[in-house]
Amino acid sequence: GATIGILGGGQLGRMLSVAASRLGFKTHIFEPGANPPAGQVADQVTTASYDDLDALKAFAESVDVITYEFENIPTAALDTLEALRPVRPGRDALRVSQDRLIEKAFLTDLGLQTAPFAAVDDEVDLAEALEEIGAPAILKTRRFGYDGKGQARINGPEDAEKALADMAGAPAIYEGFVNFSHEVSVIAARSLDGRVACFDPGQNVHKDGILHTTTVPAQLTVKQRTDAVLLAAQILNKLSYVGVMGVELFVTPEGLIVNEIAPRVHNSGHWTQNGCSIDQFEQHIRAVVGWPLGDGTRHSDIEMLNLIGDDVDAVPDYAKDSKTAIHLYGKAEARPGRKMGHINRYIGAAK
Ligand code: ATP
Ligand code: MG
Ligand code: MG
Repeated sequence: GATIGILGGGQLGRMLSVAASRLGFKTHIFEPGANPPAGQVADQVTTASYDDLDALKAFAESVDVITYEFENIPTAALDTLEALRPVRPGRDALRVSQDRLIEKAFLTDLGLQTAPFAAVDDEVDLAEALEEIGAPAILKTRRFGYDGKGQARINGPEDAEKALADMAGAPAIYEGFVNFSHEVSVIAARSLDGRVACFDPGQNVHKDGILHTTTVPAQLTVKQRTDAVLLAAQILNKLSYVGVMGVELFVTPEGLIVNEIAPRVHNSGHWTQNGCSIDQFEQHIRAVVGWPLGDGTRHSDIEMLNLIGDDVDAVPDYAKDSKTAIHLYGKAEARPGRKMGHINRYIGAAK
């Protein structure tokens, strides 16, 4: 069988490797860090930095197609990889999603709604944004933020100085605070021949900036559900996307507002492992190797709960519930804020 190269050896890379293996593919992980979770299940691991272009070359030459579990792949590394093998999802998706400002501009160009936003490089920009967009607002670093890191809340001009200091000189984006009733996400997939399929939207609750639970079905009207799926398809088509994407949405009385997109399998899609016959990981592998997409129809109502840090100590208790599926990532040390695993609790059959 063919070999799939995966950039990133975290839990997403691990679950992609398992799905790939089930479909008869071998996997080769590229990961700078030691002992990556994906290394326990993959066929091969290269431990090297993204600056090591020779290691990247050797990695690319050992695989048939390359995908990734995180979006911050340096441009030079991408150039090297792309010259040798197809990288899916493609470059456009990375360019757009690596920078919140470019991402917001892309989404609004598509005619989609986002939070009001402005680029902030210094105190003058920030004062202007406060004036034009108003507060409350959130200042976010344009690049590299995840799990709510690199964000500062602004309730008024008095918070400006500290918020800017929190950015530590990094280019930032000012986002007006969206008064949403709840958050949902669409896990969407697009095949090499351009077909799009979406999983049922999930409803997300965050705790301390980190995803806490995803529940399906989400509370959405038929119109909101249709809008969610159609806007996701619009995004994937525009990017000629191949693979799975997570699209995070705010639900408001004025319609759906796109928070952000992630060009990869997504934490809020983990429920699909036990709620659908084809989950997001298999769907992604199918797409990147050029197979037809699978049927992601939801057969069950599920609540996915992330196990962060010490939460993982409760696994023996979760194991007593025969309707709770346990997914652990094989991480030895349970540091605070670290994603150790998740559980999918069966609520009932889908109606
Ligand atoms: P992820 O781990 O999902 O990549 P992230 O660090 O990229 O997270 P965001 O998704 O931008 O961060 O924000 C995290 C959470 O903060 C959102 O899910 C939402 O609850 C809240 N939030 C972010 N931006 C806004 C906004 N403009 N208005 C209201 N709430 C917001
Ligand atoms: Mg994000
Ligand atoms: Mg987010």
